[in-house]
Amino acid sequence: METQAKQYVENFMAQIVAKNPNEPEFHQAVREVAESLAPYIVADPALQKLKVLERIAEPERVIIFRVPWLNDRGEIEINRGFRVQMNSALGPYKGGIRFHASVNLSIMKFLAFEQTFKNSLTTLPMGGGKGGSDFNPKGRSDNEVMKFCQSFITELYRHIGQDTDVPAGDIGVGGREVGFMFGQYKRLRDEFTGTFTGKGLGWGGSLLRPEATGYGLCYFAQEMLATRGETFEGKTVLVSGSGNVAQHAAEKATQLGAKVVTLSDSSGYIYDPEGIDAEKLAYVKLLKNVYRGRIKEYVDKYPSAQYFAGERPWGIKCDIALPCATQNELNGEEAKVLVANGCWCVAEGANMPSTPEAIEVFLANKLLYAPGKASNAGGVATSGLEMSQNSMRIKWSAEEVDAKLHSIMQNIHGVCLKYGTEEDGYVNYVKGANIGGFMKVAEAMMAQGCV
Ligand code: NDP
Repeated sequence: METQAKQYVENFMAQIVAKNPNEPEFHQAVREVAESLAPYIVADPALQKLKVLERIAEPERVIIFRVPWLNDRGEIEINRGFRVQMNSALGPYKGGIRFHASVNLSIMKFLAFEQTFKNSLTTLPMGGGKGGSDFNPKGRSDNEVMKFCQSFITELYRHIGQDTDVPAGDIGVGGREVGFMFGQYKRLRDEFTGTFTGKGLGWGGSLLRPEATGYGLCYFAQEMLATRGETFEGKTVLVSGSGNVAQHAAEKATQLGAKVVTLSDSSGYIYDPEGIDAEKLAYVKLLKNVYRGRIKEYVDKYPSAQYFAGERPWGIKCDIALPCATQNELNGEEAKVLVANGCWCVAEGANMPSTPEAIEVFLANKLLYAPGKASNAGGVATSGLEMSQNSMRIKWSAEEVDAKLHSIMQNIHGVCLKYGTEEDGYVNYVKGANIGGFMKVAEAMMAQGCV
């Protein structure tokens, strides 16, 4: 069976690579899932005959469009917009919008593919999608960001809707950008509906949506730690990134008694051996979210910290690592350093931050290791809760949303245990999340026929 499964993966991947050339991130994400699922697929003639994984790896629809707009100097700029509508077996397409210079079709497709499994794990009725543009909002005025968002939506609006496709934020897209996109969508459609999530609190947003990915990550990590009789109390934690997910992961880990000692951005990282407490984190939020500054400015304010330009934080000694910046930000060599320094738990806030080589190191050393599609699902889960509140025209309290988020993360952890526990008792969360996420989508696709 093992040889048969390996052969299945190689044949399947050869087709994926031939059909989707020059898309390395997409190949990486699909291979990881195929490797987890292969033993099940080769043992199940129905899954093979109905080509379920083959269909899941082919987007239902990909929209690529021109986004022309005028900058503050009156010059025309042209970006490329994307929306990958990956899978609608479980509900309307759902997934964020990313604005970053690196955005391309491969990155959009890997994110939309991962999103399909993640959304399934939440148990909420959401299909998978992702979108974005190679627009870089850094250094742009509010006016330029608004002009860009309006042009982006002037094309995208015809493809989305509360029952069709519901976008949200991601890298480079926070409350400001969602506001501009929602405003243009509302104007073009002449309707006020829950087509976006991550909206402002006064106009349809859910309490705790901004916090949800980082908080959910820590709730998931709490469950993982509990399998070894441990908690966050007194642990040293590395966080990468300094955006939405990183800020709230650092906040919750600190509230749970841990000492967070690093944050980063694409220029370097800061190391504060005294810990980034609530007061320092309030400064980071102001610096990043209001002044749109760089993390290196932290050391001007807090001289206890050091800044390391052009480096990533994985060389610092820790118990727990929470990568919360971007894909492939933690490689095999860095994973070995983490393990050698005593790190025994890695939970991903970002999507696919660990390379396949890094994952191999974590699994070989039996670390508690959670892939993003399980551990960062709290963001989209709370988006799902925002959709429910919009449809019912009600607003839940922060306590109600937090309780639901907590229970969804516990439930996802339970699914990972169910499908990922190996004979020796080690929990392979990669396997658990991939199989658990796949099962629901596969059952729905088989029931819905050849569509
Ligand atoms: P933000 O834009 O708020 O923050 C992104 C952070 O990552 C910034 O500190 C940014 O630094 C850093 N970063 C981005 N690109 C790179 C790079 N190439 N190398 C190093 N650092 C980089 O985004 P989010 O916090 O929302 O998203 C972070 C991750 O979490 C992404 O992988 C996203 O897909 C994932 N995620 C987000 C969810 C959400 O609800 N927002 C939900 C689930 C997953 P710089 O400013 O220098 O670019």
